[in-house]
Amino acid sequence: MDTSALPDTERLAERARDALGRCGVERLREPVGAAGVARTPITGQILFPVEFDTAASAERAVTAAHEAFTSQWRDTPAPVRGRLVHRLGELLREHKADLAALVTVEAGKIHSEALGEVQEMIDICDLAVGLSRQLYGRTMPSERPGHRLMETWHPLGVVGVITAFNFPVAVWSWNTCVALVCGDTVVWKPSELTPLTALACHGLLMRAAEDVGAPADVHRLVLGDREVGEALVEDGRVALLSATGSTAMGRAVAPRVAARMGRYLLELGGNNAAVVAPSADLDLVVRGSVFAAAGTAGQRCTSLRRLIVHEDVADEVARRVVDAYKQLRDRIGDPFEESTLVGPLIGERSHTAMRAALERAQADGGEVLVGGARRWEEAAADAYYVEPAVVRMPAQTEVVREETFAPVLYVLAYSTLEEAVELHNGVPQGLSSAIFTQDQAEAERFLSAAGSDCGIVNVNIGTSGAEIGGAFGGEKDTGGGRESGSDSWKAYMRRATNTVNYGGELPLAQGVRFL
Ligand code: NAD
Repeated sequence: MDTSALPDTERLAERARDALGRCGVERLREPVGAAGVARTPITGQILFPVEFDTAASAERAVTAAHEAFTSQWRDTPAPVRGRLVHRLGELLREHKADLAALVTVEAGKIHSEALGEVQEMIDICDLAVGLSRQLYGRTMPSERPGHRLMETWHPLGVVGVITAFNFPVAVWSWNTCVALVCGDTVVWKPSELTPLTALACHGLLMRAAEDVGAPADVHRLVLGDREVGEALVEDGRVALLSATGSTAMGRAVAPRVAARMGRYLLELGGNNAAVVAPSADLDLVVRGSVFAAAGTAGQRCTSLRRLIVHEDVADEVARRVVDAYKQLRDRIGDPFEESTLVGPLIGERSHTAMRAALERAQADGGEVLVGGARRWEEAAADAYYVEPAVVRMPAQTEVVREETFAPVLYVLAYSTLEEAVELHNGVPQGLSSAIFTQDQAEAERFLSAAGSDCGIVNVNIGTSGAEIGGAFGGEKDTGGGRESGSDSWKAYMRRATNTVNYGGELPLAQGVRFL
């Protein structure tokens, strides 16, 4: 890539403005108090100023969402609520290219992955619309004659959604589409690094609300950094805080929400590994690993960070992965270019973290087999393009146990499956995992309770790229939350257990006699 291939910032700003206009964001924002900016990692430059919120304007947003909840939304029948999400899905389909362009401009994702992220939003709309007719409670047999025992599910209230830069729209939609059909209203604080995608999503949702006659305040957007997020953390009217981001953020947020007896749902950092058994199909291993480790420039929570390979095939796997990485070298650059496979890091901090991790790994005896260099540094001083790196490690040292949010893949060798599982589980995080094997018994052991301790456990595919039908989330330092499909909707509702006496007598449970 030469730098003439990088689009200039003015052209990117124009492209963003056009996409925003089509999504119904004519003016960037009413003045609410704080000066913010939208920036692109493609050139590292500022696109244009954007008005950010303050803690006070965030509080007003919660007031409006709370009012919409109590006055209208919680009593709107769930299938009617589903119509709003259905209409949003139609608008997302219509504006798929606009939203994907904004994701690329702001997060630096290659265009095909940006389109995939928007598709994920469309998919969750479909799922949530179906869900709007399936918020089932159970009926249990009562031990008392003439009684019925059942559960009903009710909306919680205002859901505060805090999201990370790397999935600027999909994670919002997982939360918001499900919360809305569950009868909650939403206040969204996106990453301060991705305000434009948020404005576009909010614009489309407001259009959908107008089209179906839903109250506009079912969704409020508040822009800004952690200070604005903290306003949601502290507000007792935010019944559920769903926060996606680093483990450090989760540690700051969780005790504060718990102290006010609020609920939280955390989707935090990962340190994902794949175990490669001697029987593995190595073609699958190489393809699956390169996409999972180098895709999205290593900036997915599910990115593959550790390859734990049986000693009999470790050299061959390392050699083949390195060969595949060498082919990436000419495909690092402008994420809008069709041929690009690796876009920029989000910013300088990620690059510093990657450099530091590589240095620490080498100090621990690791050998950098390929990658690690910064590209076109002189010509694009504020943009951070890097060659994805593979490092052969003699042991799982401290740096390997940490999440470095950049494309660094550590290769470790093992001799028995027990050792592989111990290495695999020997990190603080517990998000996504995989085993590559042709041995069914081995796969089952990895899937069993004594196997992987992660929330996502795959066989013969990589760690990233989950579908929305399953519940998404992880254990340990990943925070324990579950979002998206399966029965994740239950996190957005409260359960009431009802006993109805239609018998005319008043027998007490457990045979108790009184009066
Ligand atoms: P980050 O923690 O820096 O920020 C995430 C969000 O939290 C931002 O909106 C930020 O403004 C807000 N925030 C930070 N501190 C806060 C506080 N004290 N109170 C309230 N809000 C606060 O994360 P990031 O750099 O944007 O994203 C990368 C991280 O997110 C990685 O660790 C990645 O693994 C993780 N992530 C996890 C998932 C998942 O589903 N498990 C998904 C995407 C990203």
